[in-house]
Amino acid sequence: MNIKKKKRQIAENRVGYLAIEVEKSLKDNHNLAEIQAKQAREFSKKFNIKSGFSQRMLFCHKCKRFIVPGFNSRIRLSKIRKSVNITCLCCGFTYRKMINKSQTYI
Ligand SMILES: [Zn+2]
Repeated sequence: MNIKKKKRQIAENRVGYLAIEVEKSLKDNHNLAEIQAKQAREFSKKFNIKSGFSQRMLFCHKCKRFIVPGFNSRIRLSKIRKSVNITCLCCGFTYRKMINKSQTYI
């Protein structure tokens, strides 16, 4: 294994560990959770680690701040567009995640 792959593997472990720590510190200290989330995002950007939708929706697409559903973001379902609307309450930007047709019909 070359050095670049090893660095990426270490960074993936750190991002995973930070994601767990963010969940723990959200209940007590929001500022600490924001710092940890920012650090995890910087790691994933630096080492080109892809994160899933559940992790990506925790960051605003416009102001890039850490947003928590129910605390400083609002999540709603749209019947007209068939989408999930995520609104950042810091800057007011609304991000729409479209739902596939196969997921809407049962
Ligand atoms: Zn925002």
